[in-house]
Amino acid sequence: MAHRDGRRVQAPALISAWIRALPSVDAVRPPRCPRCEASSRPVGRRLNLVGHGRRSLVLFGAVELEDEPGFIDLVCRRYRCLVCTAVCLVVPRGVVAGRRYLMPAIGVALALWSLRLLPPDEVRRRLSPFLLTGASATGWASLRRWARAYGTGDGTLRERAARFAQALLATSPLSAQTHAIEPRIYAASLHHS
Ligand SMILES: [Zn+2]
Repeated sequence: MAHRDGRRVQAPALISAWIRALPSVDAVRPPRCPRCEASSRPVGRRLNLVGHGRRSLVLFGAVELEDEPGFIDLVCRRYRCLVCTAVCLVVPRGVVAGRRYLMPAIGVALALWSLRLLPPDEVRRRLSPFLLTGASATGWASLRRWARAYGTGDGTLRERAARFAQALLATSPLSAQTHAIEPRIYAASLHHS
């Protein structure tokens, strides 16, 4: 699937606004082709990056922090480069390439586990749309995978995840004086690409 849609480009639009109203082809046209870097609309010339239909992604998570985790059917826009013929998929902020979970779900999961020290099963219960059953309820493979992918520095997976969560918190637009970890991580994750 990845090769058919080519590279993913994250638009500045947030996923919440995107779901309320799919932005127009013009509104989220990338400034340049992600492959050959041709300008998408050179001044006074024809467009280089043209709309190339839509594609739906099924993603996991919650669009707002208060929402229950669920399955999100997200309509994304595709563009085709008339210079190099590459096709790219434009997604809103909160969607990261190669992951089915929204970035806010990943950020909050890592923070609950590494900063709040919740057990993986509890983190999973709060953030996964899948019901827990039997043996599969032990641990959460996704959590370990994210900790490996995003964690930084030395130490255990949890310690490395904590470092990532702290660094993410430092970029949050919400103040530590007035907001708990979860909303701060959530807001910061929306701007993580
Ligand atoms: Zn191109």
